[in-house]
Amino acid sequence: MLGGKKCLITAGPTWEAIDPVRGLTNHSSGKMGYAVAAAAVELGAKVTLISGPTCLPCPDGVERINVESAQQMYDAVHKQVSLADLFIAVAAVADYRPVDIAHNKIKKQDDSMTLTLEKTPDILASVGKLKINRPFTVGFAAETQNVLAYARSKLEAKQVDMIAANDVSQSGLGFGSDHNQLYLLTHDDTLDLGIGTKHSLAHAMLTEIAKHVHNA
Ligand code: C5P
Repeated sequence: MLGGKKCLITAGPTWEAIDPVRGLTNHSSGKMGYAVAAAAVELGAKVTLISGPTCLPCPDGVERINVESAQQMYDAVHKQVSLADLFIAVAAVADYRPVDIAHNKIKKQDDSMTLTLEKTPDILASVGKLKINRPFTVGFAAETQNVLAYARSKLEAKQVDMIAANDVSQSGLGFGSDHNQLYLLTHDDTLDLGIGTKHSLAHAMLTEIAKHVHNA
């Protein structure tokens, strides 16, 4: 279905260092991104997975590039993206990072300390904006309320072709779980894929994407 198509996927959290032993991160397990990578291989794609730190084994047939920070993920994506037919950003990229990374472990001193943070580059939006060799571009949106409205505004703001949206306020679904619930939004359609395993939803999502990529 995706035979011969080159698919670039980001997955997992990022790690934004504060000093050599500490950093800012989040609870992303990487399971959804790895399920998308495995399903893309099963559908015949040639898959490169750019992964933040996770405990997951690399799926069979996938080429994995390991990164830590949002900047490293951004650089790795832009090295590969001009060759890709399809870009799917599943990673839970940190929104902010420390402005300065201490060279040595920060010692405990005062009762409080202040970290100054700056925005990380938005990898998905940067691919959405590409004028040449832009792949079919898909983002993820995890929301706790107004899921479809926020996802639709993300589709426009990031100038992408599709957003896969899920409601992470429901217990047992989303972060860390083997299950998820997904809606697929394109500029002229909304499709409810329902609740399923991350693997089955990844298959259903890629089957939809394949229709668009074939028409491209
Ligand atoms: O803006 P928000 O973080 O909610 O958007 C989520 C989508 O954007 C996901 O597809 C995520 O992988 C992507 N993203 C990114 N780079 C960032 C932040 C989010 O690629 N710095």
